[in-house]
Amino acid sequence: MQDIIAIAAFKDNYIWCLRQAKLALVVDPGDALAVQQYLQQQQLQLAVILITHHHPDHTGGILELKQLWPEAVVYAPAAEQHKIPYADQWLEENQQLELTDFNLTFNVMQLPGHTLGHIAYYSAPVLFSGDTLFNAGCGRLFEGTAEQMWQSLSRILALPDQTLIYATHEYTLANLEFALWADPDNKTLVSYKHWCQQQRAKQQPTLPTPLAVQRQINPFLRAEDIDLQHRWQQHNAVDLFTALRSAKDRF
Ligand SMILES: [Zn+2]
Repeated sequence: MQDIIAIAAFKDNYIWCLRQAKLALVVDPGDALAVQQYLQQQQLQLAVILITHHHPDHTGGILELKQLWPEAVVYAPAAEQHKIPYADQWLEENQQLELTDFNLTFNVMQLPGHTLGHIAYYSAPVLFSGDTLFNAGCGRLFEGTAEQMWQSLSRILALPDQTLIYATHEYTLANLEFALWADPDNKTLVSYKHWCQQQRAKQQPTLPTPLAVQRQINPFLRAEDIDLQHRWQQHNAVDLFTALRSAKDRF
């Protein structure tokens, strides 16, 4: 896999940029200017835009970028076509997106929960997870149910350990505060928080993060853990996930 760099945007967004020779692919460009500055400085030509869902901090830069690079092809979830009408191609569950210029094929995963049409792009070991899974957290349920989100996260859990999660937001330190409160017996969390603090002190991202790490420290991926279910007095993964998500909303 080629180099993937994080273009910082807004307060805590990352616009992931993958390059192949002089061509660039960006994911969820909410802010056109941040992308434009990076691509021009690196003398790259924008060829592909991948969109995970319709929220403006993921889509707001598309039209401006298309004016600058009219050849760029915009891919977006078919289920949100009415909300992103200016995209070029629409993607559905399990579709293969072959990008020959990048020597890459992405598998499209439909992951409802944060929004109903939310998709992720998977090309081992890379997962562009949008606002579904974050480092130490998960997306808010704006449109879907807790059960839908748990099913979506379960599909991510089925991917290999070495999968690298490229999420859109640097929410990690705040997420870890909740994780430590929700899962206080988890020793790995303490050392992991230390590493994340060091990264942030150096103004480095805490992303991407390996799925193997998230399995250990992300409470939303640990809803099947029997000890955690006992602590929360819940009897199955869906109920624990629901309880965690609603506690996090109030945290
Ligand atoms: Zn969103």
